[in-house]
Amino acid sequence: MIAGLRSAEPSSGIGRSTSICIRCREIQAPGPLGLCPVCAIQTRIEASEGFRQLTHYLGAWARFEDWLAEREFGHAQSPSRR
Ligand SMILES: [Zn+2]
Repeated sequence: MIAGLRSAEPSSGIGRSTSICIRCREIQAPGPLGLCPVCAIQTRIEASEGFRQLTHYLGAWARFEDWLAEREFGHAQSPSRR
């Protein structure tokens, strides 16, 4: 079953299926993502902002690595390597 697509309760109607938006839970979401059109746009905006923040974060780490290399301090370690 694809997330966001829910079959109707067995007792609510035979042969009927509903797919309510997984985000707002108010509007029908016929698409495969399980999002209504409004929430699909909002989700894309939030995802784009997340990628922008991730790019900024990774860029800061790259600049820090360069800063360390210039001063011959070696390499920064990610917290998972400690
Ligand atoms: Zn929605």
